[in-house]
Amino acid sequence: ESIITIKDVSKIYRVGTEKVVALECINLEIPKGEICCILGTSGSGKSTLLNLMAGLERPTTGSIVIKGKNIEKMSENGLARFRQKNVGFIFQSYNLLPSLTALENVSLPLVFRGVSKKIRNQRAKKLLEQVGLGTRMNHKPNQMSGGQQQRVGIARAFVANPDIIFADEPTGNLDSKTTVEIMNLITNLARENNQTLIIVTHDVNIAKYADRIVYIFDGNIKKIEKTVKVEGEV
Ligand code: ADP
Ligand code: ADP
Repeated sequence: ESIITIKDVSKIYRVGTEKVVALECINLEIPKGEICCILGTSGSGKSTLLNLMAGLERPTTGSIVIKGKNIEKMSENGLARFRQKNVGFIFQSYNLLPSLTALENVSLPLVFRGVSKKIRNQRAKKLLEQVGLGTRMNHKPNQMSGGQQQRVGIARAFVANPDIIFADEPTGNLDSKTTVEIMNLITNLARENNQTLIIVTHDVNIAKYADRIVYIFDGNIKKIEKTVKVEGEV
């Protein structure tokens, strides 16, 4: 069954007297547990689509149903609570808090959920070990490489075990070797827990990690394609 259903969604921005059609008429269903890639060039509307699915922006027309709830009808507070409970984010530029350690950054989503400090630390440590940073718990972001910072970002996205993870150009600032490591890490974590992962990118090499690729161009879906998995490859 689908965890996200997007029906006849458009997004039009008004800039002065001008109208910018960022998304024209999007219809898309994402099944639970799928790894889905939204692929398109700069300005095609990818980030807008992700922001709508994450409830960070509201559609101009159409409906977005996530886990059975019409998110465009929720209040701002309702949306914020919904995101806290159901959604994790991975960003291109990591978005870690510079004054906090890796452990504290990863614990943050659990603080917002009211989890006790003891359980927060246990859970955050476990995630940091899973992403290979067991020996970097007390490092601050500026004491880590880009790849390490993104691992912290990944641990933070998964720490509260959300049903849906959104990743916007997660490897955009990383070299090709680190990109492979990070993509394997994100997709393996999502598959282990049967989480739905939505990746937004302009990079076809990233898209091949997904189960399905949604090609977006000029605010429209041009085609949707299942990826071919080679035997023995995950
Ligand atoms: P992508 O993520 O594929 O690069 P975006 O979704 O960021 O594309 O943008 C799609 C189009 O919508 C672009 O033409 C962009 O300039 C425009 N756009 C995006 N956000 C806004 C905004 N807040 N106000 C005005 N125009 C916007
Ligand atoms: P990225 O390419 O990593 O998504 P951008 O700087 O292109 O980063 O976009 C960051 C955010 O700003 C996106 O959510 C996008 O929707 C929004 N955005 C893009 N263009 C505009 C604009 N002209 N005005 C306001 N917001 C915009």
